[in-house]
Amino acid sequence: MRKFFLIFSIFILNKSFSQVTPQKLSDKYVLVIHGGAGTIVKSQMSPERENAYKAALDKALQTGNDILKSGGTALDAVEATVRSMEDDPLFNAGKGAVFTNEGKNELDAAIMDGKTLEAGSVAGVTIIRNPITAARAVMEKSPHVMMTGAGAEKYAKQQGLEIVDPSYFYTEERWRGLQKAKQQDSLKMYLDHADTTNRGMLKQWENKDYKYGTVGAVALDRYGNLAAATSTGGMTNKKFGRVGDAPIIGAGTYANNNTVAISGTGWGEYFIRLVMAKSISDMMEFGKMKLNVAADEMVMKKLPALGGDGGLIAVDKQGNIAMPFCTEGMYRGYIKNTGEKVIKIYKE
Ligand code: ASP
Repeated sequence: MRKFFLIFSIFILNKSFSQVTPQKLSDKYVLVIHGGAGTIVKSQMSPERENAYKAALDKALQTGNDILKSGGTALDAVEATVRSMEDDPLFNAGKGAVFTNEGKNELDAAIMDGKTLEAGSVAGVTIIRNPITAARAVMEKSPHVMMTGAGAEKYAKQQGLEIVDPSYFYTEERWRGLQKAKQQDSLKMYLDHADTTNRGMLKQWENKDYKYGTVGAVALDRYGNLAAATSTGGMTNKKFGRVGDAPIIGAGTYANNNTVAISGTGWGEYFIRLVMAKSISDMMEFGKMKLNVAADEMVMKKLPALGGDGGLIAVDKQGNIAMPFCTEGMYRGYIKNTGEKVIKIYKE
């Protein structure tokens, strides 16, 4: 009997010890971001504007880096990083979102946890200051994955998220972008986040090649978990109720600890039809392909072959990074625990 009690107490002690022992943290973490892909060419960019973009990308990287460095989760890091870009009018997400055909801002966002495969998204929201935080609330506080329009807004209010007047999202530049798009073709969805000079925008229009200003972040944290987040205003002159790829889990946003975390930017309809992000994950999981091979196959071959364009950022479970795009440029960058930091805009 005494022996039994001894074994039993050791078992109990062991169990409670393992419950209080903190999970061993590795040093390794990686954060990758994008601020949209498109016809981003140096000759159309003023040095001031280029510096402003670089500074905004740098700020977003630092925000996520501080969280990951201090042992925060990939989920917290991608949410905070995307919030930083949502609040910056330079990007087509949150403040600075493009206008619909009706002259409104309808925002989409999604977040996914690679550890649990839990996901949350909102689509067509007009009064939530940070749609990415609403997406996270849907994931964590509701039994659902996706909520749209007025329902998503009601839910965000109930969750105590910051609500703004729709005019908060107005920027002169995006408004001009809509007028320009309508002059060109009032029926056509204009895939530009309108951050160029008029000359630049016209050139893009003629070339049928545009800019996409969606923002996104993917991260591998010190616990070995992956997460992805994407937020966007969508496309200039989009029809009322149009939803892009960003809030569609598996299209513009996906994370799975077994494979990869991905956030996309580009012509959303094509990303949805290609089930872009999940396809890359499946190619890695079932086809045993390396991240860069799978991502290049989808972004550099399948996407243009179908008539679409854009790019994406990805980090796999080992911390490998891919940032392919089949446009002229993509606002992008990454930071690692080693201190290595890269911020790029054009093709290099
Ligand atoms: N992918 C976004 C959409 O189609 C646009 C973008 O990336 O800027 O809504």
